[in-house]
Amino acid sequence: MYELDTEVLIVGAGPTGLTMANQLNNYGVQYQIIDQNEQPSLYSKALVVHSRTLELLRIFGVTNKLMKESTIGEHLNFYYRDERLFSMDVSLLKMKTDYPFLSILPQSETEKILENNLPDKTVQRSTKLLDVQQEKDFVRATVLKNGKEQTITSKYIIGCDGAHSTTRDLAQMPFEGESENVSFMLGDVKIDEPSLDNRLSLISTERGLLFFAPFQNGYTRVIVMDFDKQGDRFPEEVTFKEIQDSVTKLYPEPLQLLDPYWLSSFTASHRHVPSYKDKRLFLVGDAAHIHNPLGGQGMNVGIQDAINLSWKLAYVLKYQLPPRLLDTYQEERKPVAQGVIDATERLIRIMSIQNKYAIKARNKAFQLILNNGTIQKQIASRLSQIEVEYTFTSFSKRMGKSPKPKKVTAGERVPNIRLYTVQKEKSELYHLLKSGECLLVMYTDENSLPRLESQVRKALQVFYQKVGTFLTPVFIVESDGLGTEYTGDGIYLDKNGEAKERLGLFKGDAMIIRPDAYFLVHTSFDHVGDLKEALVNYFG
Ligand SMILES: Cc1cc2nc3c(=O)[nH]c(=O)nc-3n(C[C@H](O)[C@H](O)[C@H](O)COP(=O)(O)OP(=O)(O)OC[C@H]3O[C@@H](n4cnc5c(N)ncnc54)[C@H](O)[C@@H]3O)c2cc1C
Repeated sequence: MYELDTEVLIVGAGPTGLTMANQLNNYGVQYQIIDQNEQPSLYSKALVVHSRTLELLRIFGVTNKLMKESTIGEHLNFYYRDERLFSMDVSLLKMKTDYPFLSILPQSETEKILENNLPDKTVQRSTKLLDVQQEKDFVRATVLKNGKEQTITSKYIIGCDGAHSTTRDLAQMPFEGESENVSFMLGDVKIDEPSLDNRLSLISTERGLLFFAPFQNGYTRVIVMDFDKQGDRFPEEVTFKEIQDSVTKLYPEPLQLLDPYWLSSFTASHRHVPSYKDKRLFLVGDAAHIHNPLGGQGMNVGIQDAINLSWKLAYVLKYQLPPRLLDTYQEERKPVAQGVIDATERLIRIMSIQNKYAIKARNKAFQLILNNGTIQKQIASRLSQIEVEYTFTSFSKRMGKSPKPKKVTAGERVPNIRLYTVQKEKSELYHLLKSGECLLVMYTDENSLPRLESQVRKALQVFYQKVGTFLTPVFIVESDGLGTEYTGDGIYLDKNGEAKERLGLFKGDAMIIRPDAYFLVHTSFDHVGDLKEALVNYFG
C-alpha cells in the first residue's frame, strides 16, 4: 500500500488536540499534530479543570503536574446582591472521587503542561490546514507550513481545531444551533477587595450578572452580563473602562479593578454537529460542539472526547479491530455534549431573568432547594462530570437485558482504588490502565487463586491469538498478604477493602474495565459467557 506520512493527523493544539496527542503517544500510535498559530496561546480562557478530567488525566500522569499549579476551589457561592442564597460545596463529593474540588488553572497553563508532556517539538506550529481529500484507505491533507503548501497523508484525520473548525468546514458538516442572545464582557484583572479572595462567586442583581473567579498570581476572572448593554447596545470594543463601569453599577459596594491582563467578550450560543464522523475524519471538542461558558464545561468535555476516541483509534490501528468500534465515539459522547448544551442554556435563561417577581421566585426556590446537601451533591456530581457515564448506549442496554445478575451496569464510571502488590507496595487501579489495555479484573481469595489464575491465563492465550493482546488479567485478592510462592505478576491485594467498597466487587466477580475507566461488563465467574458476549458486541 501507498506509504503514509503518519497514522493519525491531529489538527489543532488546543486542550483537545494536545490530549489526543498525549493519548496516542502513550499508546504507541504514530501521529502528527499541527497548529496554525506560531506560539501556544497566552490567554486564560477555560479556568476550571473538573474532577472527572483530573481522574482521567491521572491515568497518563498529567494530573499531579496540573494540581501543582492550580488553585483549589471547594465552594461556588451564589448571591443576590449582597445576600448569599447558597454555597455549593463540591467537597461533598469526597466519598466519590479523589478530586472533590474545582481545580482553577488558566487554559494556557493546562495547554503548556499537556504540551510539555509530549516529546520535544511535537507540535508543528505555523502549520494551517487548507484542504482535505478522503481516499478509500487514507486521507490527504494540504497544509500551509511556514508559507509553503505541502501534503500530509494519514489513515485518519482528527479535527480538534475549535469552534471555527476548518476540518468541519472542509467536510461540509453543518454546525447546527443558535445564539442565546446574551453578551458578556470578560476581564482578567486584580481586585482590591479581600472578601472576594479565594472565592468563586456568581452575583445576580436586577441589573445583570457578575462572576468572580480568583486564579493565579493575584488575578481574578471577572465576567459581566450587563442588562443595559445587550443587543445593539453591546460595546463594539470591550475596554477596561466599560467593564469597570458595569462592575460599579452591579456590585453592591464600590469595587476597584486594577491591572487588566486580558479583556474579551462573547455572545453565548450553542451549536452541535449532527455527525462526529465523516468516513476517516472525526471532529472532537469545540469543533463538534459549543455552548455558553457558564459552568466551565467546554474544555473538560473536549478533553474527555479525546480520551474516548483515542484508545479506540489505537485498538483499530494496532489490533486491526473492525472500524465500527469508532462509531461508539459518537454514540457515547454526543449525548454528553448535548446534555451540557441543554443544561448551560437552561442556566443562562434562569440567571438572566429580568422581571422582579420572577427574580424573587427564583431566589426563593434557590434558597429552599439548593441548600439541601443531597441536591447539592447531585448538582456537584454533574458539574464535576463524575456523573458522565455511557449506560444509555445500545451496547450497555443489551448487556443490561441479560437475565444474569449484574452488580454494576455496563458504561458506569470506574473510580480509582488503592491496591497493594504481593510485595505489599502501594499501587492503584488507574496506574494499571496506563498501558491502554482493557483490564480483566477478577476478585478472589487466596485458596481459589491458583486454579483461577491458571484457567484464565490459558483462556487468554487463545484470545490473544484470535483477537489481540489488549486484555490484561488482574487478580484482586481479598487478603492482607500472600505466601511467598506468588510472584505477583498481575496479582494485587485489596488490603483496605476499596475494591469491595468502591467497585462493588465480591468474591467470584469478574469485570472488564476499559482504558478510559468505564465498565465494559461486570459479571461473575459462573457467567463467564457474559465476558465473551461483551467483547464480541463491543469490539466486533
Ligand atoms: C471566556 C471563556 C471561558 C471559558 N471557561 C471554561 C472553563 O472554565 N472550563 C471549561 O471546560 N471550558 C471553558 N471554556 C471553553 C474552552 O475554552 C473551550 O471549550 C476549549 O478551548 C476547547 O478546546 P479545543 O482544543 O477543542 O479548541 P481550541 O481551544 O479552540 O483549540 C483549537 C486549536 O486549533 C487551531 N486551529 C484552528 N484552525 C486551524 C487550522 N485550519 N489549521 C491548524 N490549526 C488550526 C487553533 O489555533 C487552536 O490552537 C471557556 C471559553 C471561553 C471563551
